[in-house]
Order: sequence, then structure tokens, then C-alpha cells
Amino acid sequence: MKAQIASLTGSPLWGLSVEDVLAKWNQMGMEVIQDFRPDTPYGLGPRTVYMETPSDRKIIWIPSYGGVAGKDWLYDETDQKVFWILWKADVKVLIIGGTSGIADWRSTGSKVQPGDIVFPWSFRTNPHHRGLRGTEHEIAWPHRDLLLDEPFCSGLVQSLYDTALPYVQEGILHGIHRPEDVRVALIVPDGITYETTYDILKWNAINKMISEMQLGLPPVVTLHGDCVNPVLARLLGMHVAYYHMVANVAQGLPMESRIVDSLYPLYVDNFAKVAVPMEFSLMQNLPIPDGTLCSCITSVHTAPEVFAKSMTVGG
Ligand SMILES: [Zn+2]
Repeated sequence: MKAQIASLTGSPLWGLSVEDVLAKWNQMGMEVIQDFRPDTPYGLGPRTVYMETPSDRKIIWIPSYGGVAGKDWLYDETDQKVFWILWKADVKVLIIGGTSGIADWRSTGSKVQPGDIVFPWSFRTNPHHRGLRGTEHEIAWPHRDLLLDEPFCSGLVQSLYDTALPYVQEGILHGIHRPEDVRVALIVPDGITYETTYDILKWNAINKMISEMQLGLPPVVTLHGDCVNPVLARLLGMHVAYYHMVANVAQGLPMESRIVDSLYPLYVDNFAKVAVPMEFSLMQNLPIPDGTLCSCITSVHTAPEVFAKSMTVGG
């Protein structure tokens, strides 16, 4: 199984079962070559759908970031299994659609709101964003220095924007935000559920402070939800095309209703209506960057060989 493009989306499609999504793509001309759960060194992998677009492109879709219903992402080593599959398939571009809650401290201007689509600028590093255990990509050091300039491929943002804009113009989505408008950072909750009011107030205060320290730059806000390992994607030479649909206002911030009151209808109605055709279009048309116009490849530096000789050699 080889494919240059894969998608791990994700909660924008949670309003439909995997079968419903595949049936809709099939009506649009997508052909399923294989639908299976690959074996990986970390155990049985998640459902993996190998497909061909009408433009003869081979595509891999791993539904819902590789999540298995009822299983913990960490205990189940989901991240490792997913990236093993992508690595073995020589994937170069990784499409990830996520959803999240917004912590936007601003009282005026174009605040990010539920129903918006966002192309993130950065993310908070996480102790669980690690390399691929047991392979030469287990760690970057001492052979490489991996920097996280523009962790989400800057060369693909325009294509994402152009693909999403019609849904905003049609009114299915509310607003659209690029890094040049607002610097949005992704934060994965540290626990297994939403943050507390304290957590979000803390991030909101930090976001406001950073924005006031850098008045010449777009303001900083945070989205709280998924952020599939951008470190490992870069380590494996993949360009990440990430988009987020905003499902709710984050815990503890002023809101007119409960989180689930905006989240459920958006998931079931708006997001899936957009994500099904949008993913199809991205799979079919998203360009494969050559690495010269973004930081995804050039920000991985080869370190002096002597670094590796300064530690114990061998497994
Ligand atoms: Zn790139």
C-alpha cells in the first residue's frame, strides 16, 4: 500500500458513520481498493481505507485519527500505529481535520467563534508527541535537529482556504481564519476530557499577554481539542495540512449556552456537510509540495556526526 496523500480526519466527520462517509465518497467517484486493519509492531492497527480518486490518485484514510471506540489514545499507542502505517506507505502530505473549543480573549473585532473554520499557526508541544518507537525515527537527536518553524505546512494553507471558502460564502460555516489574520495555537487537553474553567482562564490570560507583547503581529488565541503529533510528521518528512472547525466556546468563558448545545448540532449538521466534499476535493486536488516553499523539510537539520559518538553506541 503506497500513497502520497493520507487523511486522518477526524471529528468534522463524526456526524456520519465510516460506512456513510465511504458511501458518499463512492457516489462522488472514489473507489475503495482495500478496507482493513493492518498489523503494526505496536499491535493491530486502526481501520485503514486505501482508495483511488477519479484523478487516479492513491489515498489512505484512517478515520478519526486512528481512534478505536472505547480505547485510550495513549494506552493503545494509537499515535505509533497510525504513523507506522503512514511511514510504510511513503505518505508525503497529511490532511487532518479537527474540531475544538475556542479561547479568544478579545472583546471586539473578528473573534473566532463556534461554526468557524481555522487554519492553525502553531501548537503547544506535548510530552506525548514522540518519535516512532523501535525505528530510526524514535528520536531526532543526536543525528538531526528538528525545529518547529511553521509546524503546519505554510505552502498548503492557500489551497485549504480556497477549498473551504465556498462553505463560508454559502453560510454552512460562519467565518474563516488564516495565520495572517489571527495566530491560533492548538492545545490538546492534558486529561481525558475538557479542561477546567481555571485551565482555560490561564490560557486566555497567556494569549492576551503574548498579543499585547507583540502588537505588530496578529493576535494569539488557542483552540482546545486535537493536535495529532506534528513532531513525528515532521520527523517522517510529511507536510501537515491541518484545519479545525470550531465546535464551542472553551470551558468557563462567557457563553450563551452549554458547550454541548453548540457542539452537537454543529457536528451532526454543519461540519459533516462540509467535511465530506471538502475532504474529497483535498484528496483529489491538494498539491504535493516539493519542500522549497515551506519549512516542513528544511527545518530538519543534519547534526555533526561527532554528536552521535559522544554517547553509548548500539541498541
Ligand atoms: Zn510543507
